[in-house]
Amino acid sequence: MAASRPTLTASDERAEIEAIYRELEQRPQLNQCTSLAQCCQFRLTGRVPMLTLGEALYAARAVRASGRRSLPQRQDGACPLLDALGRCSIYRHRPFGCRTHFCQQAGGGYPRKKVADLIQRLDSLDETLGGNGPRALPSYLQDLLVGRSAPQKRRI
Ligand code: SF4
Repeated sequence: MAASRPTLTASDERAEIEAIYRELEQRPQLNQCTSLAQCCQFRLTGRVPMLTLGEALYAARAVRASGRRSLPQRQDGACPLLDALGRCSIYRHRPFGCRTHFCQQAGGGYPRKKVADLIQRLDSLDETLGGNGPRALPSYLQDLLVGRSAPQKRRI
């Protein structure tokens, strides 16, 4: 018989995500984000942050808390969470990849081996919540916000 998943409340989910982000912040860090938002220009970098479900829920709730019900369609290929001034509109709630993928001006990316344990915790949380592994930020958040992802719908 398949093992049942432990039940987590929204509060439990949030606590685990915040604990992971807090632990990342406490690690010795050679590189530093200076909010240039260059890594948010997906078309230019050719890279899009991949989110596990816990990260996506945490970010989507921040979007909702700001009064937005969906994300804008951007024609420039940049992250839909950039505000009119070109800054991240959910900076305190930004996903793990945004916290570790530093641009060259900020010193380059975080070595994966330094954060492998935190990535493992994100993957475990994803599995517990019934996620299907990492998905690209724009479509994942939009699906959660408009209720296209059934298991996650009630959580936003
Ligand atoms: S969530 Fe924020 S930090 Fe991450 S890519 Fe989007 S605008 Fe940039």
